[in-house]
Amino acid sequence: MLYRSTRDPAVSGERLSFTETLLRGMAPDGGLYMPEHWPQWTGAQLRAAAATPYVDLAADVLAAFAGGALPDGAVRAAAERLGESFDHAAVTPLVQLEPNLWVLELFHGPTAAFKDLAMQMMAVLTDAALAATGERLLLLTATSGDTGAAAVRAFAGAKSVDLMVLHPLDRVSPVQRRQMTRIDAPNVLNLAVRGDFDDCQRLVKALLADEGLRAGGRVSSVNSINWGRLAGQIPYYIAAAAAVGGPGVTPHFVVPTGNFGDAFAGWAARAMGIPLKLTAAVNHNDALARTLATGRYERRAASPSASVSMDVQAPSNFERLVFEATGRDAQRTRAVFETFARDGAVDLAPDLLAALRAEVSAVSIDEARTREGVAHAWKAYGRVVCPHTAVALTAARDLSRDGGPVIALSTAHPAKFPESVAPVLGFEPAPPPSLQRLSDAPERLSIIAPDTSEARAAAAGLQGR
Ligand SMILES: *Cc1c(COP(=O)(O)O)cnc(C)c1O
Repeated sequence: MLYRSTRDPAVSGERLSFTETLLRGMAPDGGLYMPEHWPQWTGAQLRAAAATPYVDLAADVLAAFAGGALPDGAVRAAAERLGESFDHAAVTPLVQLEPNLWVLELFHGPTAAFKDLAMQMMAVLTDAALAATGERLLLLTATSGDTGAAAVRAFAGAKSVDLMVLHPLDRVSPVQRRQMTRIDAPNVLNLAVRGDFDDCQRLVKALLADEGLRAGGRVSSVNSINWGRLAGQIPYYIAAAAAVGGPGVTPHFVVPTGNFGDAFAGWAARAMGIPLKLTAAVNHNDALARTLATGRYERRAASPSASVSMDVQAPSNFERLVFEATGRDAQRTRAVFETFARDGAVDLAPDLLAALRAEVSAVSIDEARTREGVAHAWKAYGRVVCPHTAVALTAARDLSRDGGPVIALSTAHPAKFPESVAPVLGFEPAPPPSLQRLSDAPERLSIIAPDTSEARAAAAGLQGR
């Protein structure tokens, strides 16, 4: 299996192995990496998946995407890491709430959010890829909380990786901050930036392009522009579809969406032959829903919501969907996203808009309905849900369930977000085992101004340690 950039129109353009894709994160032409074709899952394989342990299924899916670039042992070890680090034997249990309404629990990992599912495996795969080349890797990540926590947990102590995480000072939840900073590993550096998430992302982009840092070794990122993250999120779609599926049954997944990484993993499962429908549920930061409704993709400032990990107005993985909806036309994809970058807005051609609408639906759930969703889940089902899950569950309940099973993805444990759940329910959510085990080591972080020179100096120091 080889990978190509969404922006490379050359028929004989650059093709990379899975490991090179993993270590680069993003293509130098500004595009995102995509597999050259989608490995196919047969009906018999899907039926068998219903009785396959999650770890075995994850290993099979990863092996299809790794395409021989890594030893089988490394792929197997990556999948087994899930079995070791998750607190639930099923890894991603599916829970029924009503006839044809389910939630897929993705929060049983070490940092209690779904980011653990891919990140735990990525740490093992990255280590194996670096062992083969003898290189070191500097990983940079900007986070609004969950990605940073999952990355710190997955990469702390990794032999050949240094990890620098930038979060906006005082704008992540206290639990999220402690998950990142109460860690005593010399290869992890936390920076709290006096600014917002967009400042963090801007600094990361500047450092990724920094010649001085690149001369010191590989520099990459672990956010969902990295194909490795998405590959690690495909298995739970297959597992859930197999669990509720049967002849003629098409499950409808409702995905709480920010950067569209998780939802695109669902799209990829369908491209692999799994029958499913997809709805992306966003909060009031509704770029995706607006674009599909109007045909105009327009940048607006993200404003804070209770579902903080979805406060995104320029979802990076939308580029992957556009690439597919144009029939893999890299020239057209490049034109759309270069126009968007230059003008802050782009009007999609009617044929492209129709193709996008055929692939995925998107709905926006506002803050009041999110709170109602939290309250309803408790009253009707006795479940305490996080605000991200409440967005998906509310969107799922709006759908007709006559056509078959509807599955809302539950992406984080509510105890990560007591500040938005407790005011609705009148009590604090009880912490899961992973949060009870949270270290009480002193917090380690450096506070920096939102300028490149301080961030660059910190990165160079980490790289040269
Ligand atoms: C990251 C995150 C999301 C959004 O996922 P995307 O892949 O960015 O769309 C939803 N819920 C939670 C809890 C998250 O941490």
